[in-house]
Amino acid sequence: MGNWRDNLRKVRAYVPGEQPKVNDIVKLNTNENPYPPAPAVREMLAWFDTDQLRKYPAPEADKLVKALSDEYEVPENMIFTGVGSDDVLGMAFLTCFNSDKPVLFPDITYSFYDVWCELFGIKYETKKLDPSFFIVKEDYFCENGGIVIANPNAPTSIEMDPDDLEEIIAKNPDSVVIVDEAYVDFAEHTVLPLVNKYENLLVVRTFSKSRSLAGVRIGFAIGSPELISALKNVKNSYNSYTMNTLTVEAGVASLSDRAYFEETKNKILRTRRHMATRLRELGFYYPKSSANFLFVTHNRIPAKIIFQELRNRKIYVRYFEKPLIDNYLRITVGTEEELDKLIAALERIVSKYV
Ligand SMILES: *Cc1c(COP(=O)(O)O)cnc(C)c1O
Repeated sequence: MGNWRDNLRKVRAYVPGEQPKVNDIVKLNTNENPYPPAPAVREMLAWFDTDQLRKYPAPEADKLVKALSDEYEVPENMIFTGVGSDDVLGMAFLTCFNSDKPVLFPDITYSFYDVWCELFGIKYETKKLDPSFFIVKEDYFCENGGIVIANPNAPTSIEMDPDDLEEIIAKNPDSVVIVDEAYVDFAEHTVLPLVNKYENLLVVRTFSKSRSLAGVRIGFAIGSPELISALKNVKNSYNSYTMNTLTVEAGVASLSDRAYFEETKNKILRTRRHMATRLRELGFYYPKSSANFLFVTHNRIPAKIIFQELRNRKIYVRYFEKPLIDNYLRITVGTEEELDKLIAALERIVSKYV
């Protein structure tokens, strides 16, 4: 028998959206990009010299850091990369939230934040959104051990007023403020320029959504050189080689084609407008979206029923069985064809229940 089980670390893991094995579905449940990565990524893979794989990768992913430095016009010593922004955020929690005071974040936000806090033994306190799902800035003016804000927030799709967000950063010089900008390419405002003004600000971004590279896993953080160096130190105490050689090349290739990035982003923004109009016509309500998804509720039919009915029709959206948002669905903006299928299915569902 033995009591070895008592020594295991027990954690309540994050549950990602379903990744069904079948292909003939409309997949609008994990905010993936419906368009392929930049053509330069395919070319890179076609020409890649596999002999390079004998060697360990560059531990600090220098080539990718250089490309990010050119793209975002920040010095290389202000950039940290990781295996998706989940890896970057996890490292950032471990590095920056090492206080006896609680870390603050909204009660409705990316559901990995509390999981990392539990895993790393970080004290935390959640702050309620207002009834319209807006973040209340004053809630973050109290003493704390750190702050993390997803902006635009997930799953609400709402972005904060940039001045309000800056006020949160400015009023908290004694703690690190992490701004998770996973969806910022679909939004109006970024706090990125503020990294030169506030040493306690860490901006985290990903290639998963706007760059169609969720499968490759690239995330990065931009912040003061001191903050970045602390992050690297923690990373190098755990795993030096987080970024593999192919990942680095894929990231560099993606960054090389700005026109393609703009083109696919604009297609998504256009479909988001169409989607908003058509869903409104079917009786749905939603906050104004600043992301590549809409957070919708129907005036008559419970979200859970719509979720099931869509699933039966092989259309996958995200449903969170959580207080306050259990009558909402998060629906990713796909292609125009996917939108047509979604609307056709919803028309049938609405006529069945209303
Ligand atoms: C998708 C997402 C992430 C994680 O993205 P990666 O694929 O790990 O880069 C982080 N934060 C938010 C709010 C997200 O929606």
